[in-house]
This record gives sequence, structure tokens and C-alpha cells, in this order.
Amino acid sequence: MKLVVLTGAGISAESGLRTFRGNNGLWENEKIEDVATPEGYYRDKARVRNFYNSLRVGLPNYKPNAAHFALAKLEERLGDDFLLVTQNVDDLHERAGSKRVLHMHGALKQLRCEANESHVFNFDGEETAETKCPFCGAPTRPHIVWFGEIPLYMDKIENALLHTKEFAYIGTSSVVYPAAGFKQLAKHYKAHVTCLNLEVDREDRNTDAFLEGKASEVVPTWCENFK
Ligand code: NAD
Repeated sequence: MKLVVLTGAGISAESGLRTFRGNNGLWENEKIEDVATPEGYYRDKARVRNFYNSLRVGLPNYKPNAAHFALAKLEERLGDDFLLVTQNVDDLHERAGSKRVLHMHGALKQLRCEANESHVFNFDGEETAETKCPFCGAPTRPHIVWFGEIPLYMDKIENALLHTKEFAYIGTSSVVYPAAGFKQLAKHYKAHVTCLNLEVDREDRNTDAFLEGKASEVVPTWCENFK
């Protein structure tokens, strides 16, 4: 594995999708405990479904930006030596052409079965109490990893970090674990670690190189120069 890239909300910011913690953060109008925890979901399923329904149906209003396209182009060059891990639940990486992408926090355009978590299926439109799992007929829920739930694909991601020569993290504030710990893990396994962000912390001991600036500007140049 030559390169593992982790992306966060910052890569989609210039596409118009709000980040988690910035001004006008995505969660500003809703409390995290209401729409991003299992407890909130079981308290008021309709409210939580509506929150994700509105995000899902709004996706076509946003377009991938130059950073998403640059990563897709780099993947074409590196093939199986490349893995993209995203914390984002939007579909902008896929719409830019990325194929080897793992949505560790789930995806808006998928639902899963409430009875069997391995029943995951693609979904467009609005989920209701009547939406049923196509595999077994049980009720469904958004395929989103909420606070307190275990992120997806952890085995695959840790294995890739163990073998990769380079790890880069783009547009993520590095506060949501376990993703925030990937740079430390990669460094421990001897990878070279690069941070690309609007603002970088040059004191970070787990990072070797820093590229400060907007994702749409720094990511394409970094991708083109990647050997
Ligand atoms: P975050 O909001 O905590 O951090 C965003 C980071 O992006 C910050 O470090 C900021 O400096 C940086 N940033 C902002 N604009 C940028 C730009 N134009 N170019 C480069 N960097 C920029 O986001 P996070 O670390 O991804 O964690 C938030 C969680 O919320 C994730 O788990 C994610 O699942 C979820 N989320 C997803 C989306 C989405 O799917 N687009 C949006 C918001 C939140």
C-alpha cells in the first residue's frame, strides 16, 4: 500500500456542505444528542429520519470540488496501492469518480436493517416508518454511525495503516476518535504522515509534513506531485 488518505468535513466545505464544528456547523440547529446518538433515535425516530432525509435529498445541490476530483485522479494512477477512508457521509467522493472509498461513519445514500446490521442497501429519497429492509422485511434506520457506535471497516483500515508508506489526512479536525488516532497509528508503523488543512498545527508530533490552505487548492497540487 502506497497511500492511505483520510478525509473529513473540510474537504466538502468548498462544495457548500457545512463542517461539523465551524461557523454555521451542520449540527447547529439540532443537538448532537438528538440526531446523532442511538438514544436520540429511539426517543424520536421520525425526527432523526427527517434530519437525515433532508440531508440526503439535498445532496444533488452540492457538487464535488477540485480536491475530490484530484483524489479520484490519483486513485486512477495508484490503483490498489491507494485507499480512501472518509468520515464524510456525503457522496461527493463517489461523484468525483473515487472507487476505493470506505465510509467509516456510514453514508447518507444507504440504509440498514434494524434487525440485522449486515443488511445494508442503497437508498435514495425519504425514509419513513413504512420503509422495509429488502432482505428480511424488518424496519430500517439511517446507515450512519452515531456517537457511541463502532465505526465501520476498522479491520480493513488498520490493516492498510499497518502497510502504507504514506498517510495523509485532509480537512479533519482530528478530534473524533478513532479517526483522530490514525495518524499516530500510521506513524507508529513507520509511515510518512502529511496534514492538509485550512489551519495546521505544526507542533503535532505525529505529522511530518504540513500543507496549509483550502482543500481545493492544496490537494490537487499535492496529488499531482505524489510519487
Ligand atoms: P470537523 O468539522 O470537526 O473539522 C473540519 C476540519 O476541516 C477543520 O479542521 C477545518 O480546519 C478544516 N477545513 C474547513 N474548511 C476547509 C477547507 N476549505 N479546506 C481544508 N480544510 C478545511 O470535521 P471532521 O473532522 O470530519 O469531524 C466531523 C464529523 O462530522 C465526521 O465524523 C463526519 O462524519 C461528520 N460530518 C460529515 C459531513 C459531510 O459528510 N460532508 C459534514 C459535517 C460533518
